[in-house]
Amino acid sequence: MSDKPEKFIDENGLRLDGRQINEIRQMKIKIGVLSRADGSCYLEWGNNKILVAVYGPRELHPRRLQKADSALIRYRYNMAAFSVEERIRPGPSRRSIEISKVSREAFEPVIMTHLYPGAVIDVFAEVLQADAGTRTAAINAASVALADAGIPMKGLVSACAVGKVDGQLVLDLNKAEDNYGQADLPVAMTQDGEITLLQMDGDMTQEEFRKALEMCKEGCRQILEMQKEALKAKFADDTALPVPDEAEETVDVATALEDVVEEAEEAADSEEPEAEETEEADESAEYLIEEDLEPAPEETEAEDVEDETAAEELDEEDADEEVLDVEEEFIELIDEDTEDEEKVATEGSETREQ
Ligand code: UDP
Repeated sequence: MSDKPEKFIDENGLRLDGRQINEIRQMKIKIGVLSRADGSCYLEWGNNKILVAVYGPRELHPRRLQKADSALIRYRYNMAAFSVEERIRPGPSRRSIEISKVSREAFEPVIMTHLYPGAVIDVFAEVLQADAGTRTAAINAASVALADAGIPMKGLVSACAVGKVDGQLVLDLNKAEDNYGQADLPVAMTQDGEITLLQMDGDMTQEEFRKALEMCKEGCRQILEMQKEALKAKFADDTALPVPDEAEETVDVATALEDVVEEAEEAADSEEPEAEETEEADESAEYLIEEDLEPAPEETEAEDVEDETAAEELDEEDADEEVLDVEEEFIELIDEDTEDEEKVATEGSETREQ
């Protein structure tokens, strides 16, 4: 272990690592780094390196542990044996059990567990390299990994610590400041500023404590921005994939229906201008997806296949059947499209695996 420095803040007001007293360390966030996890995040914060994997919501076994009205959150904070100067004995320790517990509690107010009764959401936070502030770093990474997993949350959770060295409050302690400082106050909060974790080592006056909380708040605000940026970057990439948006979908539905209606009609609708046909198909699409399939009289005529006279003779029951036939045909078309898309997707993933 390194020796205690004589001074933590130099005559220019800078800390040992060159930071201002209210400056946080450089942070890098990478999302979706583990393919088997439902959500994952790799986060570097100064010399801390943290990997978080989220699994779930998934059915909890054994069933006796299930909660009838909500999902269970499990959070495991673990330091790799090689993450610190002196090798840590693998397995849970008093410290890691405590950090796991308080970190889980930091998320309980934001995760909408009531949506998943009987389920479990597992968060595994692995510290690969530690340099003070690992619990807060793990919380920041877990927050992003939970969002990546699509776990419904009221908002993100951000965390950082304030400490005291040379009688001065400093934001986001490095290892020397953490190990030899006079105080350490790790805090996690929601994006609305609600504190969900607060621990403290050492001494602070009430005034210092109030000021320290303000500094934590500002630190968390900056971290929240970085978390949001990372998530935006990830989901901006996803939107680059050929996922049809609502407008495109409407056009596809209209086109598919148009084909079906054209086949079913022999009629002279072909004379109608294209724009109007699309409009009519749109109307039919809306009509078909309505649960109540009571056909409108003019649409019954439109469904007639060969004989206009026969269409007039159709009673309401027949008309219903006709409409349902068209609907079935339409559903088949959509299914075929989906199958094609799935095939393309499977072929894509097979190619990737190769
Ligand atoms: N540390 C260590 N060995 C341990 C526990 C901690 O070397 O068994 C170091 C590690 O760098 C850690 C720092 O001490 O980040 C501060 O630990 P603390 O318990 O305050 O938790 P943290 O600040 O990491 O949340």
